[in-house]
Amino acid sequence: MKKSLILLVVALMLVLAACGSTTKKESGADKDAVAKKPEKSEVNLYTSRHYDVDNELYKKFEQETGIKVNVIKDEADVLIERIKREGTATKADLLLTADVGRLYRAKEEGLLQTVSSDILSKQIPEKLRDVDDMWVGLTKRARILVYNKDKVKPEELSTYEALTEDQWKNRVLVRSSESVYNQSLLASFIEINGEEKAKEWAQGIVNNFAQNPEGGDRDQAKAIAAGIGDIAIMNSYYFGQMLNSQEPEEVKVAENLGVFFPNQETTGTHVNISGAGVIKGSKNADNALKLLEFLTGEEAQGEFASANYEFPVNHNVAPSELLKSWGEFKEQDIPLSTLGENNAKAIMIFNEVGWK
Ligand code: FE
Repeated sequence: MKKSLILLVVALMLVLAACGSTTKKESGADKDAVAKKPEKSEVNLYTSRHYDVDNELYKKFEQETGIKVNVIKDEADVLIERIKREGTATKADLLLTADVGRLYRAKEEGLLQTVSSDILSKQIPEKLRDVDDMWVGLTKRARILVYNKDKVKPEELSTYEALTEDQWKNRVLVRSSESVYNQSLLASFIEINGEEKAKEWAQGIVNNFAQNPEGGDRDQAKAIAAGIGDIAIMNSYYFGQMLNSQEPEEVKVAENLGVFFPNQETTGTHVNISGAGVIKGSKNADNALKLLEFLTGEEAQGEFASANYEFPVNHNVAPSELLKSWGEFKEQDIPLSTLGENNAKAIMIFNEVGWK
């Protein structure tokens, strides 16, 4: 009995030893595979963009290249703080934001590395790339005016500045100053008109608020339909999304609105970009570059235009029919980095004038 127990134990030990050596061998093989693979297999994307079209594009990129896109979604400031906190251990390869001001911040924090390629240079105009090649623009968006066609005649409209006049008292709708879109808008006025004038503008808009700011850009348009105000400041693609929405209510709201590009005779309509930069120390920098090249290529740019009503950065791609129907327009002519440089001043002014 004792003998057979000993035999059994010995047999078990042999089996275990055999298993162990097999596992070791296998893990050795795995290790080799892992060591060869990572450069090709994945890219970790930190993004603050919140549009359905993006996921479709990542899927297409995965199919075409075999590179897996791991998406981490949050607000840009949260992502920037996270990358800072994670330091050299960060898994982030690419930071994508819906506003150039945040890319500027990431660059200033030393989180980005230079990235350039002939393909990127060809696909993105110089004006929409960082001077130090630390970020590139992916799409353009205009901050436009939409108005109640029954109550406002387009002839009454001219500039952002004119919205501060008395005739617009209790009629202007715009979201909170916490929105980077508004921060960049005011930052552009600081750049173009100086701090004093920018503050006057912000104060004038607050004086003409139809209500305390609430909701996002689309909610401002809906507030027009609800009779709360007559004119709203919003990003162009949201208006396109509403016109083509699955929700009949949104379509109805949008169809009763007119669209107006302000400051055409003066300083141009405010334009911002969605853009991206490669993270310093990225372990998949080549893959990140490939994703940038893909997103600024003709196929992806066509999708941004047709599915999300954004303006392509790639000159070979036409805007959607809807955007074309709005006509060509004059854009602000300032370096995009100034939107980031003036961000802190803009937030200060918003606080001073009580724009919540
Ligand atoms: Fe947006």
